[in-house]
Amino acid sequence: MRLFDTHAHINDNRFDNDRQSMLDDCLAQGVEYIMCPAVDRETAESAIALAAKYDYVYAAVGVHPHESKDVTEEDYEYFKDQALHNDKVKAIGEIGLDYYYDFSDRETQMREFKRQLELAREVDLPIIIHDRDAHGDIMDTLRTYGKDNYGIFHCYSGSWEMAKECIKMGFYISFAGPVVFPKSTKLKEVAKEVPLDRLLIETDSPYLTPPPFRGRRNDPSKTQFVAQEIASLKGMDVDELAAITLENGKRIFNIK
Ligand SMILES: [Zn+2]
Repeated sequence: MRLFDTHAHINDNRFDNDRQSMLDDCLAQGVEYIMCPAVDRETAESAIALAAKYDYVYAAVGVHPHESKDVTEEDYEYFKDQALHNDKVKAIGEIGLDYYYDFSDRETQMREFKRQLELAREVDLPIIIHDRDAHGDIMDTLRTYGKDNYGIFHCYSGSWEMAKECIKMGFYISFAGPVVFPKSTKLKEVAKEVPLDRLLIETDSPYLTPPPFRGRRNDPSKTQFVAQEIASLKGMDVDELAAITLENGKRIFNIK
């Protein structure tokens, strides 16, 4: 199986002790591409360092809603400079709104989300959206302020109605471990409906470990279980589904 994990925090310190062997193992299991998103300046730098070290790793730069209260002008200068001049930087992300944790106040989250929509348009890169319990405000913002943005809904958790609108607006829908959880009946219905040409798969490593590995650290090799689940929902061959999502990932991130 040929896999593109379109969202894996392989720069997380939980991989510091065995990152090389973990990545070797992922390659042995068919992982061909990994997108490593940032959540702040420090993780943008570490994602970029990994992208420089490994051909098959790509980086995104940006600030997560959790960290949006701490972002500085210098951070924005760094993001913009890397987005424009580093050819392994393929997206602005992860950006968005998180009303579940509210680690930054909502006004700040919204301000920095909008600023990064603008940055993405300026540097002409796709965005990677983090949307937790914030569907209404994310969609309203994209409909108005972000109508010229495009990209990915990472770890999609909305309805099929919403997914249809996202697709119409130029977005890809990415599914992570939760689609494998037996209880996720609504999400499985959505995954079944998403057209193949807008579908992506990811792990969100080291979080969201799918069965049968729950409770353990997640890593990009587990993308295969997301592929397996969606292939069986759609009644298709898993290798074919994996190959299609790999090509979709290359297309949205403009990887030649
Ligand atoms: Zn993430």
